[in-house]
Amino acid sequence: MQEQFIIFAQICEGLSNIKSIKEKVNILSRYLEELSEISLPIAVTFLSGRIFEPESRLLLHIAHNTIMNVLSTITDLDMKEVHKIYLQYGDLGYLVEHVLSHKFTRALVDFPSLSISDVYELLTKLACIGGKQAQSTRKKILLGLFMRCEPLEGKYLGKILTNELRIGISKGLLLTSLAKAFGADPDMIQNALLVNGNIAKISILAKKKMLETVKLKPLTGVSYMLADVMYNSKEISDYFGRDLIVEAKYDGIRAQVHKEDNKIKIFSRSLNDITAFFPDLAKAIISIIGKYRIILDGEILAYKNDRPLPFHYLQRRLNTKNVTNVNTDLVPVVYIVFDILYLDEELTHLSLHNRKIILDNLKFSLPILHADWKFASSASSIDLLFKQSKDLGYEGLVLKDPNSEYQLGMRGKKWVKLKKELDTLDVVVTVAEFGHGKKAGTLSDYTFAVRETDESSKLLTIGKAYSGLSEDEIDELTQNIKSIAIRSDGFRIWTEPRIVLEVSFDGIQKSERYESGYALRFPRIKRIRSDKDVNSIDSLNKVIEIYSRQNHSFHDYINFK
Ligand code: AMP
Repeated sequence: MQEQFIIFAQICEGLSNIKSIKEKVNILSRYLEELSEISLPIAVTFLSGRIFEPESRLLLHIAHNTIMNVLSTITDLDMKEVHKIYLQYGDLGYLVEHVLSHKFTRALVDFPSLSISDVYELLTKLACIGGKQAQSTRKKILLGLFMRCEPLEGKYLGKILTNELRIGISKGLLLTSLAKAFGADPDMIQNALLVNGNIAKISILAKKKMLETVKLKPLTGVSYMLADVMYNSKEISDYFGRDLIVEAKYDGIRAQVHKEDNKIKIFSRSLNDITAFFPDLAKAIISIIGKYRIILDGEILAYKNDRPLPFHYLQRRLNTKNVTNVNTDLVPVVYIVFDILYLDEELTHLSLHNRKIILDNLKFSLPILHADWKFASSASSIDLLFKQSKDLGYEGLVLKDPNSEYQLGMRGKKWVKLKKELDTLDVVVTVAEFGHGKKAGTLSDYTFAVRETDESSKLLTIGKAYSGLSEDEIDELTQNIKSIAIRSDGFRIWTEPRIVLEVSFDGIQKSERYESGYALRFPRIKRIRSDKDVNSIDSLNKVIEIYSRQNHSFHDYINFK
């Protein structure tokens, strides 16, 4: 009974109506505790906001329109009516629930009820469909799935399909509940997740009381070490007061390359397996790296004639469904390696300087490059390197403490980034407006929001930007936003919070104009972050932190410019 999808849906519904964290943990832990080894990893993956485990290469993109189309088939409603109901709710899950619970639904035959693994199997089937008949087969499977759903099941199936569970469950809460369910130490489970970013696997190991077996090893994504930010060279040299390892800040996508035997995996920043997007890189890496068992950390960059290409070239590659020779030639990429976590054994406990020595002893050739690095300590030498890096087409500098270990999942002051603009925020688009003049007919003005807190899913608007994107990118966003529109008043579209932008700005001021109480000075869109989702955007905490820091360093920053 516990394995039934209806129970999963009821638990989600219950959790979304409860405010108390303690109570949520109680409910969730009791539920997880009773799940079988088959259903547990599936439920945990769904609860973590994913459909498939992070290491899986499966991707499921079902357009809202396809789902609406299927709903219209199983009801007496036409597409227009279904769309109208959707706009009323602005959430696909609610739409499915509404449609399935009304009498206009065609009589359902007595289908067997769904277990959580039935749902997973059918979703896997959906993700694997290819070929000419793909769209119609996809619709048939979806139709079968919805026909077997109770309204509440339909609601959560709709939410899973659109990656928007939104039941107020943070990763922290899920981990605490897993720890409670299986009597595990919460710190141990947290650490296990840093070493093995696959929460589904961790849940099984917690159930089997085998968390201590989790070890860092190739082919399993590891949480990245991240950089904090500082605003000028003087602040950095005063803070550290000694030699730092200085590298360019590359404007590409962060990637881990794992190799063992003849297998290679490339993981994105959110630990998705992105090998399929870079077949050229994977093939080359496997022949260059040869015999090693290895985990490398670095950045994938679009690169031609010894120069980095702007980020949007890379974006083209990531937006392609089938990467073929044509688009690999069009957007050649390199992998710039700046760290090594594993070379036949774990290296994360070594100092960065020692890791660099090991790395530099490895012979690489294009498309793998060593990140160039130098020691520097004074503000003037940092400024000089900053200028050189900008001249080479990079974004700024990352400065690293040579004595630091590789701290999994940490954003701390062992690594700091220095960029020209005051800072950037990752935000999500909530409203888009049609532009004027040359931009007429396209959605080119974007109102965006940050999260209220790191744990919350509540969004607060903080600014509006219309510059920084190419015409192609604006066209692409226009299409995307239209497909995820919630409502429109003719010149504005309220959209599902799915499009993440990285915006840069010159300052932050307090303002009544936006819900967050802050506004950005001169916001510019740096890039569309299709590698991030709404769960990984910045929160008001970061805004407040930048706001309070800029008062001390704003003048220095202006001088630095
Ligand atoms: P941000 O995305 O602004 O938080 O900046 C941190 C990101 O800078 C990392 O996640 C990397 O993708 C990227 N980065 C670029 N160059 C480096 C580097 N040399 N060392 C570490 N991270 C780098």
